Parts: sequence; C-alpha cells; structure tokens
Amino acid sequence: MEKFNLNTLSQELVNKIAAGEVVERPASVVKELVDNSIDSGATKIEIKVANGGIDLVEVSDNGVGIPMEFLADIFKSHTTSKISTYEDLNSVLYMGFRGEALPSILSVSNISVISKHRGSDTGGKIEFKSFDNYSIKKAPRESGTVVTVKHIFENIPVRKKYLKTPQTEYRKILEILYPYFLIYPNISFKLTKDRRVVFNLASLPDSKPHTVLLERVEEVLKEEFVKRMTKVFYSGAGMKITGLVAHPSDHQKRSVNQYMFVNGRPIWDNGVARAVVQAYERYIPLGERIPFVVNIDIKPELVDVNIHPKKEEVRFLNPFRVYSAVEEAVKKAVITITSYKTEREFSPSEYKSRSLVNKDMDKKTYSSKDITFTPKVSSSVRDSLLFSKEVLSSGGYTQLENLETESSDSIRNIFQIFNKYIVIEFVNDTLWLVDQHAAAERITFEKLSNSKGMDKQKLLIPTEITLSEKELAVLKELKEFFAGISIDYSVKKGSIEIESVPVEFIESDLKKLFDDIFSLSDEVRDIAKNISKLKDNLFATMSCHTSIRSGQSLHRDEMISLYNELIDCKNPYSCPHGRPVVWRLKLSEIDSNFERTY
Ligand code: ADP
Ligand code: MG
Repeated sequence: MEKFNLNTLSQELVNKIAAGEVVERPASVVKELVDNSIDSGATKIEIKVANGGIDLVEVSDNGVGIPMEFLADIFKSHTTSKISTYEDLNSVLYMGFRGEALPSILSVSNISVISKHRGSDTGGKIEFKSFDNYSIKKAPRESGTVVTVKHIFENIPVRKKYLKTPQTEYRKILEILYPYFLIYPNISFKLTKDRRVVFNLASLPDSKPHTVLLERVEEVLKEEFVKRMTKVFYSGAGMKITGLVAHPSDHQKRSVNQYMFVNGRPIWDNGVARAVVQAYERYIPLGERIPFVVNIDIKPELVDVNIHPKKEEVRFLNPFRVYSAVEEAVKKAVITITSYKTEREFSPSEYKSRSLVNKDMDKKTYSSKDITFTPKVSSSVRDSLLFSKEVLSSGGYTQLENLETESSDSIRNIFQIFNKYIVIEFVNDTLWLVDQHAAAERITFEKLSNSKGMDKQKLLIPTEITLSEKELAVLKELKEFFAGISIDYSVKKGSIEIESVPVEFIESDLKKLFDDIFSLSDEVRDIAKNISKLKDNLFATMSCHTSIRSGQSLHRDEMISLYNELIDCKNPYSCPHGRPVVWRLKLSEIDSNFERTY
C-alpha cells in the first residue's frame, strides 16, 4: 500500500494561500489599505508608492486609529472590528469586513503599522521580523494610521516573477485609485510616486461620501468631455442613483472613463453598463462607448457584496429593477442634455443674447472679441451646454425660445459632394460633413416620434398594395396609429389603398416600406400587439424610406433646410440606426494636419 499522509498546514502557509486571492499585485495592497482607511472614517488619505509599488506601498490616514493593545490581533486571520454576526453581513456598508487583508499582506511582504487610536494617549508601532516574530513599541503620532508595505513577494519568487514592469504596476495602482478619488470628494487624497506628488486633491467643502461632483471628476480625469457631462438622478424602489454621464457627442471607441459604484464601492456589473448604453440608444453610433460615473446607493439588504474576494462584483437581489432604474435615470439625463440648442453654430445676435443671460459666467468667454467669432477656448457645444444649464437653473426656459434663431446665418459656404455628403463651412472656423441620407433619417425619425411637423400630402392616385390576410388584419387594427403619423389608408379585400402620406414619403416605394414594417417581427400579428414597444424600431425602419437618399443631387435651398431641420433635432449626432450624421472638423485640426501653425 502506498504511503498516506495528512498534514495540517501552518497558519503562515494558510495565509499565503489566501493571499493568492486577496493580494495579486501591489495595486491590490493599495486597494485593501485604502479600503481600511476609508472604513476608519478618514478625511485625509495619503498614498506613497515606489517602483510601481513593488518596493513600497504606504498608506496613511487621519482615521479613528487602532489601540496599541490590538496591533498584533489585527494580523490574525478573520479578525475584524467591523462585523460580529452573520446578520451584520446584511447591513454592512464597510469596504472590507473579512479580516483577511492584513494577514494576507503580512504573509507576502514586509509590513509595519504605526497607529494612534482616538481614545488613547499614545500611539504604537508593530514591526515583524518574520511571520510570527513581531515587536510592539510606543510611537508618537496624531490620531490615525500608517501602514507601510515593503518588498512585496520578495519571499515568494514564483509570484514576483509574474509582476509586470514597474510602469505597468503603477498604472494598475492608478486604475484602482481613480474610482476612490471620484466617489469620495469629502476625502483629500495625495498620491506620491517615487517621491513626486502626482495627485493632491483637496476635499471639497460640504461634500458627502458616495457623491459624484463635477469639480472632483474634472480634477481627476482632466478631460474636456467632463465639462459637458450632465447629472443623473433617480430615487425610489430602495435605491438612489446619482452621477454624471457624458454628452452624446462625446462618445468614444474604448470603454475607458466608465465608472460605477454600489454604496460607494467601486464595482463592475455588465448589466448596469448595458443599461447605460441602452439609454443612449439612437443617440450615439452603434458600438461606441460613452463615459459615465454612476453611483447606486441601495439598501444593503437588496444587494450582496459578499460574493467576490476582491469585492469588485455585486449581486443584486432584483437586478432588473436596478437596471431599469439606471436606464430611466440616464435616459432622463440624456434627454435633458440634448433638449437644448446643442452642437449648433450661434449667430452674432445669439452670442450677444447669451452674454446677457450669462451675466455671472466667465467674462472671457463672452467678451466682445468672441462676438467676432474667434472662439479660442471653448467649443460651441460646451458653450451652448453651459448656456442651457444656466438658463435652466434660472428658470428661464422661455428666454431660450425667445432667442433669435436664424441658424443658417453663420454658414459661409454650403455645397454637396459625391451626391452624398453636404459640406458646410461656418464663420467660426468649423466645418461639417453631413451624411445627407442619415440626416434625413434622423429628421424623419424625430418627426414620426413626436407625431408633429409631419406635413400630410394627399396622393393624386391612391397607391394600392396587395397584402396577406394576416397583414391586412394588423393594418386594420393599426389604422388609427398610422393616421397619427399622417398615413391614411382604407383596407380593401386583399389589399390596402393608401390615400395620403407625410411629404417625406411622397417619392418612397410604399410597398417596400410596408414590407419592411412587416419584417420587424417573425409573427406579423405581434406587431399590432406590441406596437408601443416596437414604435422606435418601426419609426427607424420607416425613416430609412425617406425621400432624401444617398446619390441624389440637392439644391442649395434643400441643403439649408435639411441643415435647419437637423439642428432642431433633439439628437442630431446619429441616425436612428446609430450611424453618425455629422463629422465636425475645426480649422485648427485641418491646419495641424498640414503641419501649419499660422
Ligand atoms: P477587515 O478590513 O476586513 O476588517 P483587515 O485585515 O483589512 O480586515 O483589517 C483588520 C482590522 O484592522 C480592521 O477590522 C480594523 O479594525 C483594523 N484596521 C486596519 N486598518 C486600519 C486603519 N487604517 N484604521 C483603523 N483601523 C484599521
Ligand atoms: Mg480591510
């Protein structure tokens, strides 16, 4: 018989194995230590890293601190001050509560802690010579804690081998830290990398944890699009959703700059991400991403954060309720942000009117120099958004409508190329390339959706379309619905006779149009049943049949009216199928392509 052995693993080995889950790389140490500092109630957290965190990670805070007599205990496995019963698990709002972090870090590095508890007179310091050989002595310190972690994985060569270059490890640390920077504006953060200060974020006055504040987001992400972001808000069903989402025109190829939180804890959940994208449907080109920073504050009993050792995932008790709340909240924000004059070029008179409305805004932006159309600092999008925000908050909705709107005023040149694209040169050194068919689709789609602005045209000779019994039954049921979008027909035996259509469809192949409508659903009868759900798809399909097509030559007047109708759209940026409508180019971009600096 072969030899059989049962071994009891030493605590050190057990911890090392556990550390495999908790401590993957220096960034995980940063995460655990920052979590602890946040849990300690700190309002000031300083992070120092050296050599990508491989040589040193040090986190200090001004939190409640640890009494000297407990300094050794915090390194014992499953020792935590945060929960004591299973029931507590259902109400935790702490970042960490497994009592695993410090023992794990201890088993893979050299760690020391200096801390002073708020209720103690003196501070203490614990240092380790080896896993269970430590010394504790008094150490002077203000209330709070410093944890110093040196030489990670030094004693575990196999793990050290898997670390990437210090630059990469540093980047991973930043990836961990950004979300915390974003969601805790009440905490001042300082990050020092190899003795150089890279972030020094002051806590924002009167700010609360778990809030997304534009000021902080701007300071952290340092990107232009942040200024154009809009607030998200939802409250109900045991949750509150807050945050900022980007303007549709700020879509991007990659999914960077997407941040989500549950009760202030950085997480990732594909369902939430999908819900955000869903809210942008038909506002951004298909497959494009949109920046967002969204926090979901939810009753702890409605979410399980206890499913992942690294706690990046959560499980919602009722995921679909959360997703639909997110979608609703973001949709509202997107509609608000696109409901004003966005992405349009202002005429001189509008510049003037705006400066009146925006008395307390940055004078520079609206100086008389800008009226001569040399906007250097600000894009028209941003201006108009700031503008609409201002108008909104002053309750001056009507002022917006009273503004002069001879929109085509600012056009210097307009012409067509390839019978497909419209080129528009604006006096403010901007160029638009417009896809004429996509633009017409967008315009028609919005008209159909609002069921207004549709001019009905009677057909001289009614168009007869032969249809199946099933199709006829559906059209019988939907007669009123179609009348609402200016399509009138009478149902005959085996066919319908179309009597009038919106002008946009006067030259369209109506047989094809109805064929496309019927192919929306496998079972034709479902169309009548689900008409409200199918409406968007139906209108998108119909818009495709609009009269301005690719390959059609257009008169100047037609182009100008297309442009005017386009900028009146809620969302002029993409066609209903999600393809882009407008490509904007600044003169400066064109210049720089030719390496021209004057
Ligand atoms: P957990 O955070 O899951 O409780 P840790 O191993 O991360 O487990 O920490 C163990 C305990 O050490 C914590 O419960 C807390 O009491 C104490 N502790 C750790 N870091 C800090 C800190 N920065 N400030 C105050 N207490 C701390
Ligand atoms: Mg912890």
